[in-house]
Amino acid sequence: MGVLTGKTALVTGGSRGIGRAIAERLGRDGALVAVHYGRDETAAKETVTAIEEAGGQAFPLQAELGVPGDAAALWSAFDAQTDGLDILVNNAGIVGRRDRLPGVTEEDFDRIFAVNTKAPFFVTKLGLERLRDGGRVINISTVLTRGAASPDLIAYSMTKGALDVFTSTLAKDLGPRGITVNAVAPGVVDTDMNAGWLRNDPEAWRTSAEISPLGRVGEPRDIGDIVAFLASDDSRWVTGQWVDATGVALL
Ligand code: NAD
Repeated sequence: MGVLTGKTALVTGGSRGIGRAIAERLGRDGALVAVHYGRDETAAKETVTAIEEAGGQAFPLQAELGVPGDAAALWSAFDAQTDGLDILVNNAGIVGRRDRLPGVTEEDFDRIFAVNTKAPFFVTKLGLERLRDGGRVINISTVLTRGAASPDLIAYSMTKGALDVFTSTLAKDLGPRGITVNAVAPGVVDTDMNAGWLRNDPEAWRTSAEISPLGRVGEPRDIGDIVAFLASDDSRWVTGQWVDATGVALL
């Protein structure tokens, strides 16, 4: 019996990368996991199968985020499968086109805010009536909102900065219900999001690994394990926090 037995979790973007590692870890801990995906049904089903093969329970949940009505569509798909939620992980996100301020178009800005900020805001808002007292909201942020500015990721960083404010503010609102709200902030993690500049460039890989005294690039499971702590009862006295998940001693 795991520490999350009897709990239900929803992980947005749970079919690959960090979201998949979170979904698999929460499943191993005993939660019934809704593995949300946007378009890749095969990947979502693979994640569900991996959870089941490890002895857990999960189901895939489709909803495109960043479009009008996205949160309502997600919850209607969720309600068709189960009722009540204990752990909401707002993980789905896009990095968008890398460019400094002069190159960022209004379309780029609107799109990245729609997926990274507006979607988690309304997914959470509409999820509140399903989220049980004592529950958890965990938002996946980034190191870029604190101390590691990257000018060519200005719009992306702003979307996550807004998510950080959402996190600390919502924590005050939901505290009386025993619900904690925290942000987890990864640094460089080896996922498809970074495939272009990281995986195929040994020099980029080496410099990214050297940022951490632990001497390696982050792996999705490094983040999944931190999220698992925040999802568990062990973290009940931690709320409104931005939790460093970078493997870096000092930024
Ligand atoms: P990824 O690209 O592998 O995964 C992103 C997930 O979000 C995918 O499952 C994707 O399908 C989903 N998604 C994206 N847009 C969507 C949409 N419009 N509708 C529905 N689903 C959508 O990347 P990842 O690295 O696993 O990213 C997960 C989270 O971690 C993101 O919020 C990202 O900003 C954050 N993050 C990643 C890193 C890193 O280095 N990889 C660092 C800091 C923060």
